[in-house]
Amino acid sequence: MIDLRSLYPQEIETLLADWGEPKYRAKQVFQWLSRDIQSFDDMTNLSKSLREKLKAECSLTCLKMLRKQVSSLDGTIKYLWQLPDGDAVETVVMRYKHGNTVCISSQVGCRQGCAFCASTIGGLIRNLEPSEMLQEVLCSQAESGMKISNIVLMGIGEPLDNYDNVIRFLRLVNHPEGANIGMRHISLSTCGLIERFEDLANEDLPLTLSVSLHAPDDETRSKIMPANRGRGVEALISACERYYEKTGRRISFEYAMIDGVNDTPHHAKLLAKHARRCSAHVNLIPLNHVEEREFKPSTPEHLRRFIQLLEEAGVNVTVRRSLGGDVDASCGQLRKKVKEHRA
Ligand code: SAH
Repeated sequence: MIDLRSLYPQEIETLLADWGEPKYRAKQVFQWLSRDIQSFDDMTNLSKSLREKLKAECSLTCLKMLRKQVSSLDGTIKYLWQLPDGDAVETVVMRYKHGNTVCISSQVGCRQGCAFCASTIGGLIRNLEPSEMLQEVLCSQAESGMKISNIVLMGIGEPLDNYDNVIRFLRLVNHPEGANIGMRHISLSTCGLIERFEDLANEDLPLTLSVSLHAPDDETRSKIMPANRGRGVEALISACERYYEKTGRRISFEYAMIDGVNDTPHHAKLLAKHARRCSAHVNLIPLNHVEEREFKPSTPEHLRRFIQLLEEAGVNVTVRRSLGGDVDASCGQLRKKVKEHRA
């Protein structure tokens, strides 16, 4: 079966041309694929015979809502979607002044093993298809009735570990005949798989690259982020430098403040040095509590001291507001509980 929702318009055109269909049919089909339809029969402007052919040859990826939780604090919505094969992923919809933002998962589980994150418990199960990521956006939009204008790839999974599917998803969701979400309104977050940075820069996509740095030195970073082992902070910062030079797009360093682990003045000064070197913006995240992890968030006093040191060094720094805390939808709290929702 051909996964139709993962195809570019040009590929649909080629497929339909092989079946003797005129060019404009492909455009009609592609437009339908970005709408909230559940079956090929919903493509009402196509002939019955074409719909039958599509049914016979292609699959139409649809997600089934297994659970929806709405935060009573800020209206953040967390969805648990069932994928066509029975696996499930979480998607979060947040309201910001600059527009509604959807936080999507890129893999079922994650193999990066960050010590503070819940998504990696249980390891990687599989990559998500482009169509599945697209449906996270479209189904969240349709179900919530909230027009989505921003996407962050900061849910479950490591986007650069599912590189080809993620790039295809980005181009599909950005397509003017599809969801048409601006590339400048999309952030891709990575734990630092630097071997992919050059490829990403060459894609020429004006998205925002967020690098989950979380520690400015190898000793600390390798302890909390296994992805640092064998790569190292120096290689990461120079890959960031090259990315910025090539794309002209400012990188954002994500930095979860962990009590007594990465929040001392020494860490702040080293972080400032790295940020200045590649003109990065620093986004501090108050560490969110994860039941299975022993880490605690930095004290407000240590957070203030850290911000002050960064500002004194001339670094552009913001603190991320935590949303959806009461529905476990905050950074690092997404966790697939397969057995529970399959039962
Ligand atoms: N794999 C990608 C994207 C997923 S996580 C990455 O590593 O960037 C999105 C962000 O949440 C990352 O910056 C991640 O490090 C951070 N995060 C994970 N667990 C967290 C926690 N308990 N508290 C705060 N942020 C966390």
